[in-house]
Amino acid sequence: MSNVISLRKVKQKRAEGKTLCSSGFHKWQVSGERKFDVKRGKLVSLERCTRCKQERTRLT
Ligand SMILES: [Zn+2]
Repeated sequence: MSNVISLRKVKQKRAEGKTLCSSGFHKWQVSGERKFDVKRGKLVSLERCTRCKQERTRLT
């Protein structure tokens, strides 16, 4: 019984995460990598969403 409930919670949480990501609310985590953005001519840090693995760069 308790297993069923916990499984349902996990599913809800995953669905929630996907909805958030598709709405543009990603869970960004700094990957620690730094690279040079040629377009902006500046050093940027790389961030990755822990849910959908999307990447973005951020000015430091
Ligand atoms: Zn995401």
